[in-house]
Amino acid sequence: MSECDKGVSRRTVLLAAAAAAPVLGLMTSAAQAKMAPAAVKYQTEPKDGKQCDGCNFFVGEAGKPGTCKMVDGEIAPTGWCALWVKKAG
Ligand code: SF4
Repeated sequence: MSECDKGVSRRTVLLAAAAAAPVLGLMTSAAQAKMAPAAVKYQTEPKDGKQCDGCNFFVGEAGKPGTCKMVDGEIAPTGWCALWVKKAG
């Protein structure tokens, strides 16, 4: 292998590492932090008949305040946000 070839391969490795770092950072923060309520348009009123205690991400008993797998903070059973997905089952 010539000196020139070594230079190219080292640069390729450095570039690959630099490209991967932000992606890993994003994945880590997405796994750890929930969304801010304002970021997903969370409101304490239902919208179009959809509300948190009918959402797949709601954690708690229907009709009582609970939490959400996706959104930070206490979640009203009658709330709604842009991530609403019909509860399975
Ligand atoms: S994802 Fe949104 S709609 Fe569903 S429970 Fe969480 S805050 Fe409510």
